[in-house]
Amino acid sequence: MVSGTPASVVRSWFEAVQRPEVATAIEAVQLEIAEAIREVGPICLASGNCCKFEAHGHRLYASGLEVARCVAICDREGRGITIDDVEEAVERGNCPWQDGRLCTARAGRPIGCRVYFCDPRAREIVPQLAERAHQRIKSIHDEHGIEYVYGEWRTMLRDVLGAEPGRVASG
Ligand code: SF4
Repeated sequence: MVSGTPASVVRSWFEAVQRPEVATAIEAVQLEIAEAIREVGPICLASGNCCKFEAHGHRLYASGLEVARCVAICDREGRGITIDDVEEAVERGNCPWQDGRLCTARAGRPIGCRVYFCDPRAREIVPQLAERAHQRIKSIHDEHGIEYVYGEWRTMLRDVLGAEPGRVASG
């Protein structure tokens, strides 16, 4: 768990996600994960259970870069959220971008959402892919000199939105 990430660090994440080389590096990890998932072929029934964290016994973690990226993309797409939305999601036990059974943050969702499948056929590959993707994201932080903070999704969202309430939607 993290809390109280300095505003300067949060700002650096928002600046980083606008750098083309950082965006390209994140997209490369996403592509690699998507290809690995395709090979296994797990079925997603769009139950939305994976986004109901408490009920499903599932915890989503993400790095600061991923959180800022998702917030920025959703802002740009008109799906921005506030701290109140995060608090309401915590009360419900889900994600602020879950709408019924659907994700409304598809383009910005972090790697943790992209590797997770409840299909039993993916039981072995999910933790392996999650660990590989986590290391790749951490490397992006390190290689591009971006401070690394990693924490539970809604805790990170609280930190980011709290530190940078007047954030600028990034391109
Ligand atoms: S970002 Fe989308 S896929 Fe990920 S937990 Fe939230 S609603 Fe679910």
